[in-house]
Amino acid sequence: PTSPLSQPGDAPASAALLERARAVTPGGVNSPVRAFRAVGGTPRFMASGRGPWLTDVDGREYVDLVCSWGPMILGHAHPAVLEAVRDAAGRGFSFGTPSENEVLLAEEIVDRVGPVDRVRLVSSGTEATMSAIRLARGFTGRSLVVKFAGHYHGHVDSLLVSAGSGLATFALPDSAGVPAEMAAETIVVPYNDVPALEAVFAARGGEIACVITEAAAGNMGVVPPQPGFTQALRRVTAEHGALLVSDEVMTGFRVGRAGWWGHEGVDVAPDLMTFGKVMGGGFPAAAFGGRADVMALLAPDGPVYQAGTLSGNPVATAAGLATLRACDDALYARLGEVARAIADAASAALSDAGVPHRVQWAGSMFSVFFREGEVRTYDDARAQDAAAFGRFFHAMLDAGVYLPPSAFESWFVSGAHDDAAVERVVAALPAAARAAAS
Ligand code: PLP
Repeated sequence: PTSPLSQPGDAPASAALLERARAVTPGGVNSPVRAFRAVGGTPRFMASGRGPWLTDVDGREYVDLVCSWGPMILGHAHPAVLEAVRDAAGRGFSFGTPSENEVLLAEEIVDRVGPVDRVRLVSSGTEATMSAIRLARGFTGRSLVVKFAGHYHGHVDSLLVSAGSGLATFALPDSAGVPAEMAAETIVVPYNDVPALEAVFAARGGEIACVITEAAAGNMGVVPPQPGFTQALRRVTAEHGALLVSDEVMTGFRVGRAGWWGHEGVDVAPDLMTFGKVMGGGFPAAAFGGRADVMALLAPDGPVYQAGTLSGNPVATAAGLATLRACDDALYARLGEVARAIADAASAALSDAGVPHRVQWAGSMFSVFFREGEVRTYDDARAQDAAAFGRFFHAMLDAGVYLPPSAFESWFVSGAHDDAAVERVVAALPAAARAAAS
């Protein structure tokens, strides 16, 4: 790849497209974080991707450390996935009937993830968590949902809430348009805080349908559960007859062949789990699944309704299946090596420049917090120097490295990140670290 060195704001074709986009789309983007609001500057419109590289509409190439926010675990346009997609598309795009690839993808998921007896395919992670919660409510006949501060489960109304200060709060909507009554069905508890969870259950346990948790948090930066936390979730929910919903939309098939569940240990079986991202291979495919007796309540067998015109889409399931089939132990070992090389280099560069920071891990997912000390909660994560990250981000972008455009995100690598890609990142780090320090 050619060197894409650019000046900040020097992205004329992206800037022109953004202006046109703004005239027809709010903010010019179809998902808010793409707008670069947290770091400033012009979001890059990408024209193509191959392996670990992205090329923007100005012709500049970047090493991609976002990987479409997780899905592109094999890199862009992976040959096996491309072939599967071409083959599937050549046979039709959508049938609105059952098809074989749906069965194969469901079998692959059930085979990998022990607690999942049955799985239902949907089109996005948001749909997966929304449906899992409806199912938990239908199964228990209760309505309250417990979530953790800083965890993101998609833009489901009742989950689009954050905690106020205090030990455990009834949630206030995080978004206009979410009725207060709906937010009031959600209780937000600080993450990694077992006593707070126990207090909520002691007060309202008989009304709680489920606890939903990111298996390892990745949406406030990477904050894994403290040792014993997941076990405590299982114990407390079981004691009170509530379900445990583990959201593996980000971690599933990313941190290991059976996701965080397989990574952390098989001693905690959630009742329901949600998946997305990697299992769609870059196409809209997601899923929720779990205990057979709970899943049996779903329509058409049971009374909990859930459906989708494009659910189990033949092209998306072909991409997901081809992706999962390539996700073997060797791939996960490679992801770990690449992530370690990049994180170690980032940490060394920041140390040399005197920038306080901390790297945290969940499998090969990691993030660099611009603060010292362990990050266990959302409040910890927020107490970082986001402005320093912004300077770091832009220096990396100028040097041809595409980081997540926010300090509160995981960095992702792929099996296609080869030595050339890693070298590009490592070469860019010292100057970026100095920019962060300035
Ligand atoms: N759950 C988690 C843990 C996620 O990280 C995300 C997306 O980032 C979602 C749910 C929502 O998935 P989607 O964006 O496909 O709706």
